[in-house]
Amino acid sequence: MLPLIYHPIYSDFPLPEGHRYPLQKYRLLFERLQALALPVAFCQPTTAQREIIDAVHDPAYVSQLLEGSLPLVKMRRIGFPWSESLIKRSLTSLGGTTLTVDQALRTGLAIHLTGGYHHAHYDFGSGFCLFNDLMIAARHALTQPGIETVMIVDCDVHHGDGTAALASSHPDIVTFSVHCEKNFPSRKPASTLDLPLPIGTQDSDYLDAFLPLLDLALAQHRPDMVIYDAGVDVHTDDALGYLSLTTEGIFQRDAGVLSRCAAHQIPVAAVIGGGYHDTHEQLIPLHEQLIQAAITHFPDFSASLEAS
Ligand SMILES: [Zn+2]
Repeated sequence: MLPLIYHPIYSDFPLPEGHRYPLQKYRLLFERLQALALPVAFCQPTTAQREIIDAVHDPAYVSQLLEGSLPLVKMRRIGFPWSESLIKRSLTSLGGTTLTVDQALRTGLAIHLTGGYHHAHYDFGSGFCLFNDLMIAARHALTQPGIETVMIVDCDVHHGDGTAALASSHPDIVTFSVHCEKNFPSRKPASTLDLPLPIGTQDSDYLDAFLPLLDLALAQHRPDMVIYDAGVDVHTDDALGYLSLTTEGIFQRDAGVLSRCAAHQIPVAAVIGGGYHDTHEQLIPLHEQLIQAAITHFPDFSASLEAS
């Protein structure tokens, strides 16, 4: 059974009318996956502990967010109004990505039905990201037996700027960002490996550039775990992304990542990342593909993990 990590709070915090954040997509994706009766097991996370957040972020910034005293200009940069439920949601989603790591180490692969807050930096958040779950989960993974190197493969259309900056002093965390060179953020600190792509890049050019580079990166860095941000805002109809992948191209990307990790017997903790469409009818099937790709292209190797 493929572990899927989800909590109802993901779609339950107040936003102003017309806000572009696709708040309901998490609930709708969960309901869609439930209805499909796939070989999956849903797991509910609890909130992350303060210590694990303070190990990655400035404790003063964390306190201000938790207490609701972060200056308004900094909340505006995040893009959400502060609320108790926003904080509870954020802490639960952090707990969710670390639970995804734990489940992936047990079974080989687990998927978080939110996550990918790669624009959160040491002492500020931006672009709908308060705390960097990818970095917190990577640090958590490195405390587990046998995990000496973690690779964060970030395929969201937006550059993983916060992750790159936070990981720069951690040689055991390899960051690989594949993104549109013209999308947010304008300032893109160097990841270990960056693949900036021009506006309008289509399936074949994307896959021909990305997958061979992923092969090289896996061979060079030999990670003990991959954290995969499978953002679908690379889709040609995405409201924010400037790349031009088709629905099938995104499936090929996800299958390419998962099958390579399976071939190397590298556990994968995946998050669904970004995706912005005017209607959820277009968006939910794009995220659902990650779970379908996982079921098709990632054979269960929990037996071999336990044996090793
Ligand atoms: Zn994005």
